[in-house]
Amino acid sequence: MKVHVDRDRCIGAGLCVMSAPAIFDQREEDGLVVLLNDSPSDADAEHTRKLVEHICPSKAIRFTDG
Ligand code: SF4
Repeated sequence: MKVHVDRDRCIGAGLCVMSAPAIFDQREEDGLVVLLNDSPSDADAEHTRKLVEHICPSKAIRFTDG
């Protein structure tokens, strides 16, 4: 599973960072999302998928297989 972020959609709410700090961070200058790990382990990926699908208000995070 691969994680992708779209900074053009991100509004810097930071909910992904609070939910999965090993996967996501925020840029200091503008608060936009930074992807720390685009290939989390299967256990982390499932956890992250469930959290992020429901909490990112701008739908800036998506997942693909592979
Ligand atoms: S939860 Fe969504 S909008 Fe908020 S910082 Fe993360 S990617 Fe950006």
